[in-house]
Amino acid sequence: MEHKSIPELFGSMVFNDAVMKERLPKDTYQAIKKTIADGTHLELDVANVTANAMKDWAVEKGATHFTHWFQPMTGITAEKHDSFITPDGSGKVIMEFSGKSLVKGEPDASSFPSGGLRSTFEARGYTAWDPTSYAFVKDHTLYIPTAFCSYSGEALDKKTPLLRSMQALSHQALRILRLFGVTDAKRVVSSVGPEQEYFLIDKEVYLKRPDLIYCGRTLFGANPPKGQEMEDHYFGSIKPRVREFMRELNEELWKLGILAKTEHNEVAPAQHEIAPIYSEANIATDHNQLLMDIMKSIASKHGLACLLHEKPFAGINGSGKHVNWSISTDTGINLLEPGDTPFENAQFLLFLMAVIKAVDDYQDLLRLSVASAGNDHRLGANEAPPAIVSIFVGEELNEILNALENGTLYNGKGKTLMEIGATVLPHFPKDTTDRNRTSPFAFTGNKFEFRMLGSSFSIAGPIIVLNTIVAEALRQFADELENSSDFKADLNDLIKRTIKEHKRIIFNGNGYDQSWIEEAERRGLSNLKTTPEALPAFIQPKNVEMFTRHRVFTEQEIKSRYGILLENYCKTINIEALTMIDMVKKMVIPAVVSYQSELAELILRKKSVGTEVSTYLDETLLGRISILSESLGRKLEYLTEQVIKVREISDHLELAKAYREKVFIAMSDLRSTVDELETLVAKKHWTIPTYAEILNSVN
Ligand code: ADP
Ligand code: MG
Repeated sequence: MEHKSIPELFGSMVFNDAVMKERLPKDTYQAIKKTIADGTHLELDVANVTANAMKDWAVEKGATHFTHWFQPMTGITAEKHDSFITPDGSGKVIMEFSGKSLVKGEPDASSFPSGGLRSTFEARGYTAWDPTSYAFVKDHTLYIPTAFCSYSGEALDKKTPLLRSMQALSHQALRILRLFGVTDAKRVVSSVGPEQEYFLIDKEVYLKRPDLIYCGRTLFGANPPKGQEMEDHYFGSIKPRVREFMRELNEELWKLGILAKTEHNEVAPAQHEIAPIYSEANIATDHNQLLMDIMKSIASKHGLACLLHEKPFAGINGSGKHVNWSISTDTGINLLEPGDTPFENAQFLLFLMAVIKAVDDYQDLLRLSVASAGNDHRLGANEAPPAIVSIFVGEELNEILNALENGTLYNGKGKTLMEIGATVLPHFPKDTTDRNRTSPFAFTGNKFEFRMLGSSFSIAGPIIVLNTIVAEALRQFADELENSSDFKADLNDLIKRTIKEHKRIIFNGNGYDQSWIEEAERRGLSNLKTTPEALPAFIQPKNVEMFTRHRVFTEQEIKSRYGILLENYCKTINIEALTMIDMVKKMVIPAVVSYQSELAELILRKKSVGTEVSTYLDETLLGRISILSESLGRKLEYLTEQVIKVREISDHLELAKAYREKVFIAMSDLRSTVDELETLVAKKHWTIPTYAEILNSVN
């Protein structure tokens, strides 16, 4: 390994196209390629030959087991390992792997969230091989990417609807392309490049914080004397331990064929970012799930803990994920690339219109696709875009849209009348399109960047929404234009109309500004601030209709997912509240009590020998601690009561609201008291590592 060059290392643990070509008989290889390209059914004999070749290859790579690797609704991945061993009848074993085992698996699925889709009496789900995502070897195991469904065919995972959404988008985009005379493209693919933020802290510090262990975030912590205000961490030089971590991470990712490309320090101390080169949406999703897993395990090997929570530290920037998204033909044409000719420009404008219309029509769905208890701490908190969805297109493109809408002259290079299909659009250099970092959804030259995701998210959810809503806008456009007798005139009319109807969603200003919140309200844009406010959009008839029309979700699947999301929110806050209560009882109160009695004894001793006691010691310090510990007790009791009381609520949505309005608020209140106490209690009594200690724990 040590002396392998990167090109040799790259993909060395992946059963990719090159390996298949080399190891499979020609007809089997052709059959697999056809299945990958067209989604055709795989014959059992083809599966058998493939499975055997896969097993031989995997065993050479050190694999003893195989697993169907899937993405249940927990948001993380699941795997159950089976070894290849089969008794040969003589007391020995041979290594075997059948086509049947490759194609289909039957994990006991009863313990995965199904939102009621699978009653316990038919608890079995099955996993089905997704041949569009290559198998790979990791930790002596052959991993087979799979979809996860119930026996009646309902999706129990994130991959199935993602693949369906890619299909829907492809279908509708091809309809549009045919109208422009494009006949060679057989498929349109959505591509994604996710930028991933994370924190690295020392594992010893991590293990001393039950809140980090159980909740992924700190529930207490006073502001450190030095946080991120010096702005000296962003793009700063990378510390040796972090460098070592990144080196090993890259190597592992490359082996698995993950195109790890960019890495740098982020705004907050101890915060970093990694981004791969973009790939097809389902591959990018698999890779991002793997990336998150591998980051955690490599961190642990290096004595570090990798935090993927959206907001590990209050008052310090949290972590997000930017999903760069574009659509292109299988012939390699990026449909969000403005192009050089009037003809290409017109096609680009129509796809641009589809995105603008889609985002405006389904703001609520995009918002809910990024809703979680963790992300509620970030959106709208001046470090991430607000909870209001809007699109940044840049000044130049904005002017062009205005000129198109009003039939007026465009003031670019000389005054031009913008006529679709006749005038050439100017180029949009990346730096004029990419400057505004406060926009939740930005056009960046030839792709869109969706910036509202939380760092721990599976990117599948937001991509499913994005693909489907754009498919829906394209469908409406295609329905209209396919019946046109004057394509050029109707195209012009459609573009103008779309700009007029949907320009309210375009906002190029500062998204962190209070004035934008007010402006957005005047424009009638939705501002769903918290998860319980955002989630009900999922089951609105208009949205159910849209998802079912494109066969991305059935109505049942939507209802179950809605239930799972609500439940997940409640569970998260509940765990946080219980952890908080426990930490206050076991760590905070003992610290306060012992410091309090130490101070009281000192003061008593001084007084008993007639020494003067300073007002600082007596009133400012001990007095304040006494007041705070009184209030600490009351707030602790109040929180405990709230946690018990909400359990009486049976309606899921009402419960989620109560967790937000009662439990979460009580937690914030309790926290403020603990944080002040932290600033007063002597270090030797305060056993919880402070923010300063955590954020500077890695050197
Ligand atoms: P930054 O946002 O930090 O300026 P870039 O915009 O260059 O960085 O790239 C961020 C991510 O966008 C990378 O993962 C990159 O591969 C991805 N990306 C670049 N072009 C496309 C595209 N056409 N479609 C999807 N993702 C893309
Ligand atoms: Mg970016």
